[in-house]
Amino acid sequence: MKKEILRAVKFIVDNNLVKGTWGNVSIREGNIIYITPSGVPYDKLKEGMISVVDFNGNLVEGLKPSSELPTHIEIYKSRKDVRAIVHTHPVFSSTISVVSSEIPPIIEDAVMILGPEIKVSEYALPGTWELAKNVVDALSDNHAVILKNHGLITVGTNIDEALTASLICEKTAEIYLYALNIGNFSTISNEDAVMLRNKYLNSYRHMGKDVR
Ligand code: 13P
Ligand code: ZN
Repeated sequence: MKKEILRAVKFIVDNNLVKGTWGNVSIREGNIIYITPSGVPYDKLKEGMISVVDFNGNLVEGLKPSSELPTHIEIYKSRKDVRAIVHTHPVFSSTISVVSSEIPPIIEDAVMILGPEIKVSEYALPGTWELAKNVVDALSDNHAVILKNHGLITVGTNIDEALTASLICEKTAEIYLYALNIGNFSTISNEDAVMLRNKYLNSYRHMGKDVR
């Protein structure tokens, strides 16, 4: 698990999804959560520093956990299918977080892996249980939620799914901003969006597993 966290951290840095020490990553194994420590530069992060906590937030080992632990805990409590959470501050999703209340269903891959529309959660200060509640409400059954005036959270049944979801959300946010600028755009119908989402959940995401 700790190696997976280090791999995920390298991914979010390499893909320009975070700057400085912001953002955090966690993986759940049973009732234990492995999460990046708070405020540690990613290039200094070592396996032994990674925080291991229980669902009450008690530290089992490692450094002080991410300040967003309440949000990670509440997502894991409300979504039994979720095994990994990635929180980042990427440019386009963060721009959406200040200009819009959602990204509508505009692009197929996003509708499939993220959900029919991506909601922006109500604002609350970072690290609070209020933010955790707002995030869980706006995430609903989706794989992505944008945090108002803050950034992005994606989830997955494994860390790779959550990381891919972050890239797809960021790409979709960029497209949506271009579309808003041009001013005239089309959306996928609700009926087609639900069909695409179910296709992803029930079949597409399971394909190619044996070659990964
Ligand atoms: P941590 O360094 O405590 O994980 O906080 C970063 C962050 O993005 C807060 O929202
Ligand atoms: Zn943040």
